[in-house]
Amino acid sequence: MPSKSLRHRIAIVFVGLLVLVMGLVLALVHRSSERIVARETQRELAVGANVFQRLLEQNQRQLETAAAVLAADFAFREAIATQDQSTVRSVLRNHGQRIHAQVMMVTGTDGRMIAATQSGFAAGDPFPFPDLLAAAEAQGRSAGFRQMRNGQLYQVVLVPIMAPARIAWVAMGFHVDDRWAHVMAGVTGLGVHIVRAGSRDALASSGPAPAADGADVAAVDVPLDGGLQAVLQLPVAQVQAPFGQLQGRLLGMIVAAVLVFALGSVMLAGRIVRPLNDLSAAARRIALGDYARPLPPAQGDEIGQLTASFEQMRTEIANREERIVRLAYVDALTDLPNRTRFLEAFGRLTPGMGGAVLVVNVDRFALINNALGHVVGDRLLRAVAGQLRPLVPAGGMLARLWGDQFAFLLEGADGDAARRFADTALAALRDPVTLDGQRLDIEAGVGIALYPDDGLDAATLLRRAELALAVAKRRHSGVACASDAGGEPAHEQLSLIGDMRRALAAGEFTLAYQPKLALGSGRIVAVEALLRWQHPERGSIAPARFIPFAEQTGFIREITPWVLETAVRQAAVWHAAGLDITVSANLSTLDLLDPHLGRRVRDLLERNKVPARRLCLEITESALMDDPALAHAHLDELAALGVKLSIDDYGVGQASLAYLKILPVDELKLDRSFITAITESPRNAAIVESTIMLSHALGLTVVAEGVETPAELDWLREHGCDIAQGYGIGRPMPAAQLQAWLTEFAAGTTA
Ligand code: C2E
Ligand code: MG
Ligand code: MG
Repeated sequence: MPSKSLRHRIAIVFVGLLVLVMGLVLALVHRSSERIVARETQRELAVGANVFQRLLEQNQRQLETAAAVLAADFAFREAIATQDQSTVRSVLRNHGQRIHAQVMMVTGTDGRMIAATQSGFAAGDPFPFPDLLAAAEAQGRSAGFRQMRNGQLYQVVLVPIMAPARIAWVAMGFHVDDRWAHVMAGVTGLGVHIVRAGSRDALASSGPAPAADGADVAAVDVPLDGGLQAVLQLPVAQVQAPFGQLQGRLLGMIVAAVLVFALGSVMLAGRIVRPLNDLSAAARRIALGDYARPLPPAQGDEIGQLTASFEQMRTEIANREERIVRLAYVDALTDLPNRTRFLEAFGRLTPGMGGAVLVVNVDRFALINNALGHVVGDRLLRAVAGQLRPLVPAGGMLARLWGDQFAFLLEGADGDAARRFADTALAALRDPVTLDGQRLDIEAGVGIALYPDDGLDAATLLRRAELALAVAKRRHSGVACASDAGGEPAHEQLSLIGDMRRALAAGEFTLAYQPKLALGSGRIVAVEALLRWQHPERGSIAPARFIPFAEQTGFIREITPWVLETAVRQAAVWHAAGLDITVSANLSTLDLLDPHLGRRVRDLLERNKVPARRLCLEITESALMDDPALAHAHLDELAALGVKLSIDDYGVGQASLAYLKILPVDELKLDRSFITAITESPRNAAIVESTIMLSHALGLTVVAEGVETPAELDWLREHGCDIAQGYGIGRPMPAAQLQAWLTEFAAGTTA
């Protein structure tokens, strides 16, 4: 983790610097204390040696004084002069005890002993230190360190006894032993060892034997007479001790400081790094698309400023993202999710759970839109969204796909549940909507496709649901399932296409003609050719069953030429018979997009000598919308021939009147669903009425489809509709029956 290492780095740099500085200080202190120790050692040695020498001198003087006092003693001199041995010895002993001298001797000027306190000396023995005697004779007195015969060392002085001429010498000495060395050591503060020059065997020593001059002991040699020397030693450690202590304390303080510093810098680094960590965690969250969590409030320092900027960035990204998501995923009109969002939501369905896609379409929306204006249309869509929105179950979704097409996604729903839901949705939509004081009754259709039975991906399911919706609309059943719309298994469909080809060749297709009544004149002015399939086994198959399939498979391209040919031939027959009747034929999308359509129609008309205005071609809105530019071009071509053009099933699809205005269209066929019960539904009435008015304003003839009752017929006549078609006037019939029917009809209406 980089932040952790940053924290460590900060701490390491701080502590490292401190350790470096402290190390330098320590090294410096160590070096100077070493120097001081060396100097101090030398100084202490010098002072000690000086004191040592002074002590020796002092001892010597003490001995000399004592000896002089003794030599001046009259009784003592008398005793010597008289050779009174015992008196001499007792005086010597007393005197010696008083001054703590261990050696007390008297010797004659001839070098022979007179008396001694020491055992082992007899009168007449030679004086043990003739060199001292010689020196004293030369200088008047002498002193020095001498070893007795027993090996013990003494500091000895020799002073003359004068009466008044020199009559004898008195020698006095202090025992130079370990105790003596100890006392000397106590005064000088140094280790005192008396050795013979060149040897290390101590004759007297204040402590352990003198070490060879080494690192831990400093020493100075003080030469004594008689080939002796005093080695004065100072243990360096003793000088070093206070410095060592000082350094130890310093080291302790440094260690404590480093620890405190380390702790402090770790804490400081933590304080610096924590907000950075927070920031990088927030950055990671933002990278993952989570903009919701705000950052902790910023402090006033630089990191605080960074946090504040970051926070501002987060809110701005969140706002922008929200706007983008809205643009990309939300339908601006209804605030519902759009198609893209819907497809995405489908992708999140739990596999194995099942589900349903329901496509809901408002009946005749385009018509309402055209008749009452886009503003009303938009408000209607919002109202529909408002009615459907509360129905969305948890985990489900409602989206507006386009126009008046809404879709529900129901997770985990099976066929029954989806159907129940569809009924609920339709029931909810039946609540009337009031817009601008106008009450609008909405009706709708629902197409259902089930996952995974009807498809595995959203696009397929939506297509299947839309096909089902078309079926629902055709059947006026409100709800239909994908399985109802071309739900046959593929092999059956394949057999159907083979069947159609065979049927065409075998003449199983026929055309039935349904009359179109001009309401003004009461005359039948036209007939619509409708395809009929008399299947040898299945019986009569309605066009709704096979035409969508023929369109899907492209087989319609073989059917339409036959339809056109048959219809035009029939028109020629009626024309020749003097009947003034226009024949309508239906075209599919593929037909309209066929580049040879115009030429083929022209050839047909020419060949059969039928005037172009005797042929009308009915085109559905969806056919126009597939490729509007190409459709437009082909319509222009057909119009140029003089052929009439009609918009079929107007109001079911999305085409607007404004769009139709720019097309060379003559006729508008209002879909059956508007006409049904027109006399009972004021809303339908209002829509049809305004559509008629608008169409007339655009110069279009209005045809009402599916007119079944006289009341509807009357209503249409009253409201200026031009032409009516429907079972109420006449059912589709074979061509052969038409003439008889026309006669009968004319009789009926005139009667
Ligand atoms: P369409 O072109 O809108 O034809 C009118 C349909 O309404 C016909 O159904 C007709 O029988 C039916 N109809 C007429 N008056 C009434 C009425 O008063 N009440 C009721 N309930 N229905 C009425 P049909 O013949 O089943 O045709 C259905 C559709 O099939 C046609 O609708 C048309 O889109 C298509 N179609 C029929 N023949 C052809 C054809 O030769 N070529 C193409 N491409 N499509 C065709
Ligand atoms: Mg038609
Ligand atoms: Mg129609």
